[in-house]
Amino acid sequence: MKIFCIGRNYSEHAKELGNAVPENPVVFAKPDTALLKNGEDFYLPSFSNDVHHEIELVIKIHKVGKNIQEKFAHNYYNEIGLGVDFTARDLQAELKSKGLPWELAKGFDGAAPLGNFMSIEGVDLSNIDFSLKKNGKLVQQGNTAQMIFSFDKIVSFISQYFTLKVGDLIYTGTPAGVGSVAIGDKLEGFIGSNQMLQFEVK
Ligand code: ZN
Repeated sequence: MKIFCIGRNYSEHAKELGNAVPENPVVFAKPDTALLKNGEDFYLPSFSNDVHHEIELVIKIHKVGKNIQEKFAHNYYNEIGLGVDFTARDLQAELKSKGLPWELAKGFDGAAPLGNFMSIEGVDLSNIDFSLKKNGKLVQQGNTAQMIFSFDKIVSFISQYFTLKVGDLIYTGTPAGVGSVAIGDKLEGFIGSNQMLQFEVK
């Protein structure tokens, strides 16, 4: 399975990092060794002093597809969940300044915690509230109405380059409010008022 992530999909987040709002989805991938499931602890890597949380809605592909038209894209995913796109911000800044790929800063072991999924049947995908609490305090809050590129646009765009397969995951971008995590932090993610994700930083 593949894990895709979309960068800069919420304009307030693009602005907080000083990035321009993109014309097309910014796509990158993480290896499956980045996944952290079932509330497993996240271990801070030794190569960074500034690991940021990015709470993101995740869609799960349930049908093989290539060159999917946007109007049919909704047929290719049927569940939504929450994940964190952990980012070694200091390392990413260094790589970006050299014009190098972000892989090391985004794809390391454990950099993609993943929570539970729910069916999207009957859910208004253009109005989903989601949030992240750190040690019980609200740190990130978003709504899909703020997305620059919709789920359908993202699925269509990615499938022009990569065949999507059953079980592939797409982390669809983070709203504003990203920040550092430290040993002992407890992170909890919510869709609406439902807790979908919970783990600790070690
Ligand atoms: Zn992200």
